[in-house]
Amino acid sequence: MGTSLTLFRVAGIDVRVHWSFALILVYGAVIYSGDADNAAVGALYGMLVILLLFVCVTLHEFGHALAARFYGISVPTITLLPIGGVANLERMPDKPRQELIIALAGPLVNLALVVILLPITLFVFGFQAQQSPGVNLSVILSDISTPGLFNLLVYLTSVNLMLALFNLLPAFPMDGGRILRALLAMTMPYLRATWIAVVVGRIMAVIFAVLGIFGGNLFMLLIAFFVYTGGNGEMQAVRTRRALGNIPLRAALKVGGPRLYSSELLSRAVDIMPAATQTAFPVMDLSGNLAGVLSHDRLIYGLREAGPSGRVADYMIPASEVPVSSVDDQLMEIWERMLETKSRFVAVQDHERRFLGIISSADLGEVIHDASVSGDPQSRNKTIAGSATAVPEQTPDG
Ligand SMILES: [Zn+2]
Repeated sequence: MGTSLTLFRVAGIDVRVHWSFALILVYGAVIYSGDADNAAVGALYGMLVILLLFVCVTLHEFGHALAARFYGISVPTITLLPIGGVANLERMPDKPRQELIIALAGPLVNLALVVILLPITLFVFGFQAQQSPGVNLSVILSDISTPGLFNLLVYLTSVNLMLALFNLLPAFPMDGGRILRALLAMTMPYLRATWIAVVVGRIMAVIFAVLGIFGGNLFMLLIAFFVYTGGNGEMQAVRTRRALGNIPLRAALKVGGPRLYSSELLSRAVDIMPAATQTAFPVMDLSGNLAGVLSHDRLIYGLREAGPSGRVADYMIPASEVPVSSVDDQLMEIWERMLETKSRFVAVQDHERRFLGIISSADLGEVIHDASVSGDPQSRNKTIAGSATAVPEQTPDG
């Protein structure tokens, strides 16, 4: 989401818009200019219609965001994309009841807007019918895309009704799917509730895709894709979270392993590598602080470019790019930091802010693997798959 622009800030929440949003404005202008008597007026009206649609989407997201905040979950940003909006919750709610309320809050905002807009629309319709007695509903609806106040009101009322109903479809991770999972999770384990919601969501995704293909509706195809892949991601996140929930941080932290110094050459890393169990070396400066992390990828990249006489300092990931955690943190929090910062490494400090060691995404995968091998054998393969793909990969140059 590096290519999004902050539009404004309300109640401490940044509302951002993705660059591709401009495409849907152009789309609105093109669609409406074709139907209008005056193409320029039609184009402007089309953009107004799309902007108002996204005002409704933004209000929907604020519904989620404010409900989340009520439960103490901060929401730093809301991002608008051409296919809808996303409220970025800092963490997932702990209790099914909280998830239920947070998921319901979005569609409820749209239903509230319908309740407000419908009487106004009916009033304007009554007024127009009085002014020109020959006009009836079917006459008005026949040119609904013509610029006008009544048409705009009909559009906004129906769009809010559609937003509410569409989002309530049980297509996890859409709102309706989250509501389904929350309701299921009240009577069964969270993992199984998620699994059922994901399966129902996939069936919905296939229906969306078929509708999209036969109706020539690109939007439906995008939603189908979002639901299908989003469900996968959620499932893996839940598995990883569950697997990491019970493991102490010490299990993944390799204290006392070999370290490098920033003044050393890559040849030294090659020397100590065969005996080392970790996938990355902490690089210390002369005063004993962490200067960076030399990962295997970086080492290989450095060897290829500069050979064994390349300097460690030139190829390490600088410490400023490595997020720092406390020894009191849980592995789940470490994993969430990695997702958030897209870093494969987290540096761990003790209570005196002294560097203890690094934890890599590979270390996390390993402890999940070990835990699942010694624990429930059925979940073994699933958790490994989860950990492998749920932690973002970084290119050597990243
Ligand atoms: Zn929603």
